[in-house]
Order: sequence, then structure tokens, then C-alpha cells
Amino acid sequence: MQLFGTRCWIGCIMILWGITSPTFMSGLPHGCERLRRLGYPGKARESLSQKIAKEAMKKPILGCIADDLTGATDLSNNLVRAGMRVILTIDVPLKSDPLHTDAIVVALKSRTIPVAKAVAQSLHACRWLRSQGVRQIYFKICSTFDSTPEGNIGPVIEALMDQLDCDFSCVVPAFPDNDRTVYKGHLFVGDLLLSDSGMRNHPLTPMTDANLVRILQLQLISERRRKTGLIDYRTVSHSGDEVKERIAKLRAEGVSIAIADSVSNAHIERLASVLHSDPLVTAGSGLAKSLPGQLGFHASEESAQLPPAKGRRLIVSGSCSVATNAQVQHFIQSGGAACSLNVGELAVHRDAQIEHLLAWSESGWSRDPKQALLVCSTAEPAAVRAVHEQFGVERSGELVELALSVISRALVMRGVGQLVVAGGETAGACIRALDIEQMQIGPQIDPGVPWCFASSPLSSQGSIHVALKSGNFGGDDFFSKAFLVLG
Ligand code: ADP
Repeated sequence: MQLFGTRCWIGCIMILWGITSPTFMSGLPHGCERLRRLGYPGKARESLSQKIAKEAMKKPILGCIADDLTGATDLSNNLVRAGMRVILTIDVPLKSDPLHTDAIVVALKSRTIPVAKAVAQSLHACRWLRSQGVRQIYFKICSTFDSTPEGNIGPVIEALMDQLDCDFSCVVPAFPDNDRTVYKGHLFVGDLLLSDSGMRNHPLTPMTDANLVRILQLQLISERRRKTGLIDYRTVSHSGDEVKERIAKLRAEGVSIAIADSVSNAHIERLASVLHSDPLVTAGSGLAKSLPGQLGFHASEESAQLPPAKGRRLIVSGSCSVATNAQVQHFIQSGGAACSLNVGELAVHRDAQIEHLLAWSESGWSRDPKQALLVCSTAEPAAVRAVHEQFGVERSGELVELALSVISRALVMRGVGQLVVAGGETAGACIRALDIEQMQIGPQIDPGVPWCFASSPLSSQGSIHVALKSGNFGGDDFFSKAFLVLG
């Protein structure tokens, strides 16, 4: 009893000392208001709250324009993992309140739209980002340089250079973590040249040349007649000073846009050290791993935490990439339930096809509410070619995107709370159909693909977890692995 009493006293003294000590005060963000009302001046608390407020009021320093949605989430993923707070917006928000974050990523759907539209949307995004106070614009392109002969990468870079009054700009497409490397201006996907990889059969942006300096030059058709050049891997391997010297030399030769080689993360790191204060960089998401470090941020797991996941699990795949074909096969062979869209049928009996898929899903979940269901149009190149011959590339893309987005919307309204979408264009269509405007970026499933969290007016839970996978990304077991990451 005596002993307990002594301990009690010691405890009381420690609590009193703690309450009055500045350390305690500064560690008490909540409840301090009450202490202050009780008469404590709360000097330290004030300085903490001022610090928090100052932190929260900081203007974003990096403004990113991504030409598709999965690219935007991939980019955000790398920024978050490197310690930046990121807000991802779907298009430029209509309301222009100041956003208090470190980086803003605007997800456009501008990769394959007509050049003039892509330019106009990108310039609009750039203006808005600058009005938010950002210091640097990061034009995010695909690490396989997905584009058509007309663009839209080249024309958008030129328009951004004009708007930012920038006479030289670098392009860093590589993402070594995902095996996208650039050597002597040629893009490699794993061990294959881009033009020998599955990208040569892409339904919308078939890539049949791996020489990026040449591809980009052909896309530059503005009156300025800008020239493209190369910062080769030897220069990048040596030092930042050599990269700067090379840039000066290229400028003197009349080059305005340079592709930078990079075959390793060390190369990316070096390029980030040179480019971090440029008004404009164009890059895949690889550079986003190193840029935050140059801006004073440090890697942190905390920035990737999301609220717990709820609801039914659904995978929607409209990607026909080699990787997604393998993932669909793996999912089915591992016992996963899948249902395919028939594009020919879709053209004639769209509503019946959609109804059929909805009924199939409902009966799947009535048997096992926890199982993940896969709804897809994923097909091998020969089947895609046949569809293209029958309906044309654009029309078949539209048919499939519309159907998959209608299905996603209907199933989210029926209780889906965890949604994986495969395919950049497909993801863009689905997210827009779900009326999602902003997303918080969470943990990574595979390089380049994080889970995201968004409020959704359609969902009965008011929110939804989504993972948006660019066609080429992810290991064979991606679809089953995805849900394990959420727990
Ligand atoms: P990725 O990320 O692999 O490029 P996308 O979704 O961006 O995937 O592009 C795939 C395009 O192919 C979309 O426009 C989609 O609607 C279309 N598509 C999907 N399945 C088929 C199919 N079976 N036949 C023809 N086109 C298809």
C-alpha cells in the first residue's frame, strides 16, 4: 500500500512536470486548446501549431501533367515513395482552391487524342499548375514512349516550352526499375528494342521504331523547327558537370530538346541532380524516384497509408498488352473466375452483352462474396487485328472502353469497393465513369502500380480503393497479389 502510494505520488509529479514542460506541450497537438483555456500560455504549442500550419500552407513545388491516368498514378507512386505529399486530380479541377501539398499530378487522357486537343489540355493544365505556385512542370510520358507519328509527345513539349519561355528541355523516358532503359537514344523493354517488343502490336500506339531522337524529331512540326539531340550514356555515367557541358554543346549546335540516355537508377539520379531546377522536364516516372531527394524530401512509408479496404473485389481489363495477357492467363489458371467481352457482339447487342456480364458477376458473388471477379476484353494480337479490320481502331477502342466503364460503374453501385483496372485508356474511361475527381496514393502492388483511395459518390460506402495498371506493368500474378497488398 505504502509502495503504491509512493509510486502514485511519483507518477503525479511526473505527469505535472510533463504537462507543464514544453516537450509535453509540443507533443500534444490535441487537447492543448483545453490546457490553454486552463491558463497555460502554451508557447511551445503555438510554435508547433504554427509549424504545422506553415507546413500545410506550403505551396506545391512540383506540377505534373500526365498524358494518361495509369501514368499519373505510376508517377504519383514514385513521388510518394520518395517522401512527397501528392494530390492527383482527374483533369484540371473546376474549382480552383489552393492545394496545400508538395506535388500536384494532373491526369489527362491526352495520349491519343488529336494533337490540337492534347496541346490545349496540356497548356490549360500548365497554366493552372502555375497558378497553384509550382516551380517546375513535369510532363509525364509513358516509359515506352507511347505516341503516334503525329504526337502527342513532341507537340506538347513544344507548346509547354513556349508557354514557359524555355529554350532547352530534356526528356528522360527511362524507368530502370521496370526494365525500360534508353541506350544511345534507343529504348529497350527488358532485353528487346522497343520496336521488337509487344509494343509493336499496341492497338492505339504501335511503336515500330526504337530510336527516340528520330521519333521525337518527326513529331516536331512547329514553325520553330526545333532540333532534337542526345545526351548519351557515357556523359550521364561520368558526372553532372559533363551533362551540363553536353547541354551547353547541344544548345550551341541549335538543339532544343535532348533525349537523355539512362540504363540504371544511378543515371536517373545524376540527371535529377542536373534537371531539378529546370522549368520543364519531360520524363517517364523513373525520374520521379530521384527528383524529390534533390528537392529536400526523404523516402517515407507513412505517406502511403490508406484507410482500410471494404466491399466486393473486381478486376476490369481492357489492356491487350503482352503483360496483361499473361496476367489474365495466370489468374484463370490459378482458379480465378473470368468473363470476356465479345467485341463483335458488343457492336450489335451492347446492352445485352453488358446485362450478361452484370448477371454473371452477381451470381459469382452470391456464391462467394469475397472472391475477385475478372471482366475483360483482353485478347491476343491476332484477335485484336481481326477486330480492327472489322470496326477500325478508334471505333473498337471506344466500344470496349464504353462497355467496361458502364460495367465498372454499375458494379461499384452494387457494392464493389476494391477495383483493379488494367489498361491506361481503359482506366481513364472507368475512373471518369465513377465520377472520381481526386485520389490519395497508397501502397505499391508492383513497380509503377499503387493502390489509390478516392471518395466516390456512386459507392454505397462513399469511397473506393482503386488500382490502375498500365498495360505493360506488373508480374504474372498481379491480379491476385493486388488484393493481398490491401489485406
Ligand atoms: P494499355 O495500357 O495496354 O495500352 P489501354 O487500355 O490503354 O491498354 O489500350 C487498349 C485499347 O484497346 C483500349 O482502347 C481498348 O478499348 C482497346 N481494346 C481492348 N480490348 C480490345 C479488343 N479485344 N479488340 C480491340 N481493341 C480492344
